[in-house]
Amino acid sequence: PVIMEIKNIDKSYSGSSKVLKDISFDIRKGEVLSIIGPSGAGKSTLLRIINRMIEPNSGVIRFQDKDTLNMKGKALRHMRTDIGMIFQHYNLVDRLSVFENVLHGRLGYKSSLQGIFSMYSEAEKEKAVEIISELGISEQIYSRCDELSGGQKQRVGIARALIQDPKIILCDEPIASLDPNSSRIIMEYLRRISREKDITIIVNLHQLDVAKQYSDRIIGLNDGSIVFNDVPEAITAES
Ligand code: ADP
Ligand code: ADP
Repeated sequence: PVIMEIKNIDKSYSGSSKVLKDISFDIRKGEVLSIIGPSGAGKSTLLRIINRMIEPNSGVIRFQDKDTLNMKGKALRHMRTDIGMIFQHYNLVDRLSVFENVLHGRLGYKSSLQGIFSMYSEAEKEKAVEIISELGISEQIYSRCDELSGGQKQRVGIARALIQDPKIILCDEPIASLDPNSSRIIMEYLRRISREKDITIIVNLHQLDVAKQYSDRIIGLNDGSIVFNDVPEAITAES
């Protein structure tokens, strides 16, 4: 089933030419969808429009049959809880522990960092411990995030997204700062999450070979337009 419909999205930043031109596609529940394309193609802009970090100039996005671009207040906050995000540079709070960073995902932007543990129920803490264990970073649970490797930091990012029970996780170049081995581990976790939890993964990538290996579907973006939207097997030497 379709979880999100994106229709006729146009975007230009103030004073610039169009960065996204009439972008339309459907996103299915539980799929791993890769978006590939050169730097500047508009991949990151597209992800940030999906969770409304930025607004398009025109177009429609329907998520679970609701129009997201007109959502306000509580509906908007709930939509953002349903759509988690991870980043190339992890966006963790370096001086806090893995445990605190993951719990922090639960409160989003509202939380005060002081007394963070007292703000959570035992059930929430147990859930954080469980998710940290699923990501294979239990040994690091009390380590400060600035002591971790890049691959471990990205696993904390995934755990922080998962604690909100998202329907979709947007991944903006999640492996662009990682070595090949850590990249493989991260992509395998993302695929496993889609399979085991039926969470949709939308992942911006540079490398076609990685996209082919881990995706159910690949969208090619070039200069703000979709040039390809198909299963990996359909990519031939000419495309
Ligand atoms: P990608 O993720 O594929 O590298 P981006 O979405 O980051 O592409 O960028 C697409 C285009 O939009 C680029 O030309 C970039 O310079 C421009 N751009 C991105 N963010 C901004 C911004 N905040 N203000 C103005 N232009 C921007
Ligand atoms: P409640 O339903 O208890 O009134 P809210 O509507 O304020 O709570 O928030 C619902 C959820 O959305 C909370 O888990 C909160 O952390 C999360 N949230 C609120 N704003 C944002 C945001 N801008 N980005 C991500 N998550 C958010």
